[in-house]
Amino acid sequence: RPVEPCSLVIFGASGDLTTRKLAPSLYNLYLSEALPESFVILGAARSEMSHEQFQGMIKHALEGMDLTRWDEFASHLYYKQMDLRSIDSFHELSSTLEKLEGKHGTRANRIFYLAIPPSAYGSVAAMLGKAGLSGEAGDGSAWSRLVVEKPFGHDLKSAQELDRQLHEYFNEYQIFRIDHYLAKETVQNVLIFRFANAIFEPLWNRMFIDRVRITAVESLGVEKRAAYYEEAGVLRDMFQNHMMQLLAVTAMEPPAVFEAEPVRDEHVKVFRSLRPIERDDPSKNLLLGQYGPGVVEGKRVPGYREEPGVKPDSFTPTFGMLKVFIDNWRWQDVPFYLTSGKRLAKKLTEIVIYFKNVPHLLFQKVLDEDIIANFLTLGIQPEEKINLTFETKYPGAKVCLRSVTMDFNYQQNYEGPILDAYEKALIDCMQGDQMLFWRQDSVELCWAFLDPVLQHCADCDNLSRLLLPYEAGSWGPDAAQVRIART
Ligand code: NAP
Repeated sequence: RPVEPCSLVIFGASGDLTTRKLAPSLYNLYLSEALPESFVILGAARSEMSHEQFQGMIKHALEGMDLTRWDEFASHLYYKQMDLRSIDSFHELSSTLEKLEGKHGTRANRIFYLAIPPSAYGSVAAMLGKAGLSGEAGDGSAWSRLVVEKPFGHDLKSAQELDRQLHEYFNEYQIFRIDHYLAKETVQNVLIFRFANAIFEPLWNRMFIDRVRITAVESLGVEKRAAYYEEAGVLRDMFQNHMMQLLAVTAMEPPAVFEAEPVRDEHVKVFRSLRPIERDDPSKNLLLGQYGPGVVEGKRVPGYREEPGVKPDSFTPTFGMLKVFIDNWRWQDVPFYLTSGKRLAKKLTEIVIYFKNVPHLLFQKVLDEDIIANFLTLGIQPEEKINLTFETKYPGAKVCLRSVTMDFNYQQNYEGPILDAYEKALIDCMQGDQMLFWRQDSVELCWAFLDPVLQHCADCDNLSRLLLPYEAGSWGPDAAQVRIART
């Protein structure tokens, strides 16, 4: 699809997401000539700032990047101070956009990116609608899109209410609910690996797969986002969104065509097949933890309760392990272990498929050791790789087995940098491709799955029973190690 001329309005342009993720991604896209020839980036927030100060802030965010083309890029950057509660401010935004569109020739193609607190999503969408900014030209010559960042609500009810507010003025095809995990090259590659190769898909089911482990952990702590994290915890921060999308790409059926709706239909079918977690006693399927002080990558770090902005008696979980079953023909009774947490030994995101062992343990009788069943590792980050581990004969007169690994590594096999997830998401939105964005039915199914657990955990007595301490820099609570060892 062509990348049409457009204006990108970023609400919350003075915030962390804009400086840490959006600014470097947009500049990288500019350097690689992926942005349209005519474009405008208009930052909007409540803070007072001139265009020059905004440009200075963005430049600062690009520290360490090649700035030889900065001046050209900066000539597309503007800033508008706004009161997001005032309709007049949105009428002014409308005239500002018209002027900039005339100057840069971007037509009236507009993307409104909500990088603001979630509580403001609904009201800003409504203000855009009331100011006539959500409409599109009937002949298709101009479009308007809305990018919504996670979280999409904090439970099923609030997600439905947010959706109602967004739909007051925007159609579903205009709404882009971003999940940057889905836009990672290696996550997209799971589909290519599964559906562009004939050898694995016949094995990709309960007949040959014993269990699946999906892990997304990081060594970082709560950083400067304590206020948000205290409310969200690991279940809302990671499980309702990123972990569910990793599960979907691993477990989904092949779509008939590789287009947004058929692919998203298959995600929905997976979410619809999730076996409900026992409402009264989720502990069989769920393990939660909270990090205490420890040493991470050689540096002493405080525990979660000592982090600035965190309540000293907080019960917010920073680690979660959830055992999930998908009740359908392909996956009946195959456990999927989803694990995510903060302040663990290292940053690691991977999907591991454990195949069943051979039906007759022929070599077991002549060996002291166990035969290790084959497993396939799809490394998402930091190492982008695919590894297949299998057994070989160790050279020598005696029968001895050794596990070896067949290894594909993105960096070694492909030249040039890998497209950052936000770059991919931004360019897809400019092209109007919703494949890597959440559809509302998926959002609701995932909340419906997690809501009983969240309700159980809302009771402090229940949560205090479930929450296990772990040392920062470890691999999580001891009980999780035991479960992982068993998986
Ligand atoms: P942030 O650093 O707190 O920035 C929020 C921005 O919104 C500020 O620029 C603030 O600027 C503006 N704002 C407008 N109305 C506001 C209001 N009523 N209260 C407070 N600020 C208001 O937040 P962020 O980390 O950039 O996150 C933005 C959104 O992206 C959030 O919904 C977050 O959940 C989501 N998100 C962030 C990340 C990330 O890595 N940061 C990742 C995933 C999702 P003014 O004060 O100048 O108006």
